Amino acid sequence: LPRIRVRNPLVELDGDEQARVIWHQIKKQLIEPYLDLNIVYFDLGLPVRDATNDGVTLDAARAVQQHRAAVKAATITPDEARVQEFNLKRMYPSPNGTLRNILNGTVFREPILVNNVPRLVPGWQKPIVIARHGFGDQYKAQDVRVPPASRVELCILTADGKEIERREVHRFAAGEHGGGVALAMFNTDESIRNFGKSCFEFALKRKLPMYLSTKNTILKAYDGRWRDIFQELYDRDYKERFAQASLGYEHRLIDDMVAQALKSAGGFLWACKNYDGDVQSDIVAQGYGSLGLMSSVLLTPDGNTLLAEAAHGTVTRHYRLHQQGKETSTNSVASIVAWARGLAHRATLDETPDVLQFAEALERSCIEVIQGGKMTKDLSIAVLGPELGCKRENYLTTEEFIDAVQEQLETHLVSIGQ
Ligand code: NAD
Repeated sequence: LPRIRVRNPLVELDGDEQARVIWHQIKKQLIEPYLDLNIVYFDLGLPVRDATNDGVTLDAARAVQQHRAAVKAATITPDEARVQEFNLKRMYPSPNGTLRNILNGTVFREPILVNNVPRLVPGWQKPIVIARHGFGDQYKAQDVRVPPASRVELCILTADGKEIERREVHRFAAGEHGGGVALAMFNTDESIRNFGKSCFEFALKRKLPMYLSTKNTILKAYDGRWRDIFQELYDRDYKERFAQASLGYEHRLIDDMVAQALKSAGGFLWACKNYDGDVQSDIVAQGYGSLGLMSSVLLTPDGNTLLAEAAHGTVTRHYRLHQQGKETSTNSVASIVAWARGLAHRATLDETPDVLQFAEALERSCIEVIQGGKMTKDLSIAVLGPELGCKRENYLTTEEFIDAVQEQLETHLVSIGQ
């Protein structure tokens, strides 16, 4: 098969543990043989992050900004135990957090649907894509214990310290049980607006109707700001484009939205505030059946820069088996789909339909292989139940699954080439 030329570079961010193992196999078997591709490579594995004092993550983020299409393998976010295990100089921040902050992007999580993998919520026939606002709120809040017989106030000052507004939050009673807790959190108009833009752009790109959920009946000023900024943006910049694409946008109360989502057939984009997105993306991942089938993309507000990855982590448990030379059965679908979506974005930017066709064939091949009954152990358990699904004859190893995808991909490439 002649290799398909990809006009501009794709940025590749390598990762850790089992995610790194499958990543290398995917690249060797499903990418390199078929594409004439200039890869701009960064090793975000923990040893290199440590050796460069995390400089490699910053360099990688700049390269993503420059080239605009990127793929990433899962990386370890170190905790105390990892600092010891890798003898790290310090506890580095999550590379995903660093990339999100520098690119100012929004994360969209989307399940990859496969007909024969049963869903916990059987009605979900089409994907529900969760967009999570990744800045502020509970994650940048000040939370404190408050002693009895005290008063908490909220005070706003000018930059040089003059009082603009002061409000009483609560008077805490005296006595042993009189104390409590308090919390102050914030967000900025700019971050909310960028979040809105990312969501509207993604909805248009993927032709999905869109909802924003908040609790603006209770937090009239705070959550009301999301509703108003999204509405302003929509009316000014997106209403016509949505109408042309026969799509709609609505704000919903979070409680209505949860009920509606559960009863729906899927097929929409759900823009969530930071904490809501944290909770809802896990509910959605479970509802569709498996973490191994959950993809994730980071998109900038202008919709031009995209970084694709699997939503799962480095699958440490499987890596320990791999290290002992034992057989593994790690689901590589979300990682393969990350390559496919990164390449599809490259193709869209470059206007190269042959690369787009390749990317679509790659994603389709994974789904077809599973629908043909060949799958890794996690899916075999989901399809056949823990008793039968764990039997060796009912699932493929990590390597066997990638081989099967390669075989399926080649049948597509032959027909694309003709
Ligand atoms: P994990 O996603 O690696 O594993 C969670 C559970 O799901 C495990 O039981 C695992 O066996 C199963 N699982 C996940 N992906 C699978 C797959 N592809 N095939 C089969 N089974 C799969 O999350 P974790 O165990 O909480 O974290 C492990 C490491 O990954 C941590 O160091 C964490 O920092 C990192 N992590 C990275 C990212 C990222 O880079 N995006 C995301 C989450 C976790």
